[in-house]
Amino acid sequence: MSNIENPVISIHYTLTNKAGETLDSSLNAEPLSFLHGAGNIIPGLEKALTGKSVGEKFSVTIEPEDAYGERMEEQTQTVPREMFAGIDTIEVGMQFQADSSNGPAVVTITAVDGDNITIDGNHPLAGEQLTFAVEVMDIRPATATEIEHGHIHGAGCQHD
Ligand code: ZN
Repeated sequence: MSNIENPVISIHYTLTNKAGETLDSSLNAEPLSFLHGAGNIIPGLEKALTGKSVGEKFSVTIEPEDAYGERMEEQTQTVPREMFAGIDTIEVGMQFQADSSNGPAVVTITAVDGDNITIDGNHPLAGEQLTFAVEVMDIRPATATEIEHGHIHGAGCQHD
């Protein structure tokens, strides 16, 4: 058991969807490090890591509401090609940073029909049940500055 209130946790993980397809993995890279309790990762995974110790391995399946939320159809809209001035080729699957009422969001092009471009503001994993296979690699106390900023510093720093 860790009794550190706001630890910095480093994990290796492999993420699979309901169909068992691997969507992402840290295994060929550095472990993912984050400030626990600060909302830096999805709620379901943060909850599953509470009280875990270094060396623990576990698997957790997370429903959309504790992951990236349900898909919302109203997040999909068709916009004119002029919205993408300066971009020569617009293809399905391209992603753009856009301003939304909830701050910056990533939109994905889901259809191109002449000058009508369909964009989807849902997170690409919205509506998906996700399973994480996790190994806890490291836990350390956060510094006062990290807690104040709500993210980690140093290796894997989340500063812009
Ligand atoms: Zn900072």
